[in-house]
Amino acid sequence: MTQHEDIDLKRYIRNIPDFPKPGILFYDISTLMREPDAWQIAMGRLARQIAPWEPDMLAAVESRGFLTAAPLADRLGCGMLMLRKPGKLPGATISHTYDLEYGSDTLQIQADAIKPGQRVVVMDDLLATGGTLAASVTLLQKAGAQVVGASVLVELTGLGGRAKVDAPVKTLLSYE
Ligand code: AMP
Repeated sequence: MTQHEDIDLKRYIRNIPDFPKPGILFYDISTLMREPDAWQIAMGRLARQIAPWEPDMLAAVESRGFLTAAPLADRLGCGMLMLRKPGKLPGATISHTYDLEYGSDTLQIQADAIKPGQRVVVMDDLLATGGTLAASVTLLQKAGAQVVGASVLVELTGLGGRAKVDAPVKTLLSYE
């Protein structure tokens, strides 16, 4: 385990131009996950950011939100649930459809995932325009959650996405 708790985690995030389509600069967390010390430090920092919200449950946005929510639920001793694309979750579900630049998208949650009023923190890898996190918060509220926070590894601050999210947002790494 490295002693350098103050390491700059940005060094471990790889930027890939024009993925998945021309004009998009993709922030790839795979390269952070490959380095066990750096990943462990990232999870420790996320845990310290999230713990004060005292969540009962972490809600992971498909699919890269799963990667941070699972270890964090284990560290914080809380539950975890998945927000998934349509048709992936068994049993009764609640859906929320939201607009994209072109077209729309839908997220689902299992209808019995949350007990009314439970404190929920929603997690994803990255906040860009804020559409995904805003929709996730709306869906969780529909399902009876008290959404006490949103947590991401990376925020693209220039897009102003956090203003759309009806919950306080915390991030580890910010890019203009
Ligand atoms: P948005 O809804 O615009 O805030 O986009 C956030 C979602 O899209 C997250 O689930 C991210 O995984 C993904 N995403 C958007 N832009 C990027 C990017 N530049 N690099 C990596 N992932 C991105």
